[in-house]
Amino acid sequence: MIKSVNSFEQLQDICEFKNKHIWEYALEREAELAEISTDAMRNLVKKSLDAMKDAIKSGLCSKEMSISGMCGDDCDRLQRRYANRGALFGKLFEKITTYALATIEENLRMGKIVACPTAGSCAIVPSVLVAVSEELNISEDEQINALITAGEIGRIVSHKVALAGAVAGCQAECGVASAMSAGALCQILGGTNEQIFNAVALAMKNLLGLTCDPVCGLVEIPCVKRNPFLAIHAVTAAELAISDIKSKIPLDEVIDALEQTGKLMSPTLKESSQAGLAKTKTALELENRFFNKM
Ligand code: SF4
Repeated sequence: MIKSVNSFEQLQDICEFKNKHIWEYALEREAELAEISTDAMRNLVKKSLDAMKDAIKSGLCSKEMSISGMCGDDCDRLQRRYANRGALFGKLFEKITTYALATIEENLRMGKIVACPTAGSCAIVPSVLVAVSEELNISEDEQINALITAGEIGRIVSHKVALAGAVAGCQAECGVASAMSAGALCQILGGTNEQIFNAVALAMKNLLGLTCDPVCGLVEIPCVKRNPFLAIHAVTAAELAISDIKSKIPLDEVIDALEQTGKLMSPTLKESSQAGLAKTKTALELENRFFNKM
């Protein structure tokens, strides 16, 4: 009988009791639920990892614009700039930001991406995971383990809050993606389960209240550029957590705050494009141009 684990406290307790890493416990449970071997489950995760890498690869070589014509060439612009002058924070920063733009721009071209946890936030986990793995020479097995941990984090958050901008704003999409990435990165850096939970809490706490106000109702503005921003946010959280800096508010309580903030958020700021950036003067002009073109 598989014990259901729906909170981070329960996850911490069960991992401690079984003396397992988060990914080990999650892998065994998911395999048991799906009635397949852990090897078969790892293969499924590898498929997602490979799809993430493919999206990065194709996104890096394309500057095809989206149907709206508003987005699609920022990854190319960033690569050209880095070719002339490197990023202030070095190669890893360059890779994370370009991989994030490459992936999210593939999404708006209707390319194949892995929604992790959603399409609008699909570039945060892959950009951090793939860039760090390349730069630190992380084995494929460890990458798979990190992705399993990221998935487990998203799964537990989704028990409290539906991961959708329409339900709780962008804090529940890009915010959660950043928290998942922070946990996965903390694991790659050798973090303990406790440090991983702190990385997730630190990332999430600092994104509470992030609204969803997409211009023209499209997953483009502000979504595209938000992905590289929140990928870097995840690195900050992992760096602090691995240094034993703790969130004074326990992770489950942070998720309670996420849920409460989502409920209190005005419906006009939850994917309805009725306020915020979506109703600025320029957004309205873009909307006019876009709908007149159609
Ligand atoms: S702003 Fe809204 S549509 Fe865009 S990524 Fe965030 S939640 Fe999704």
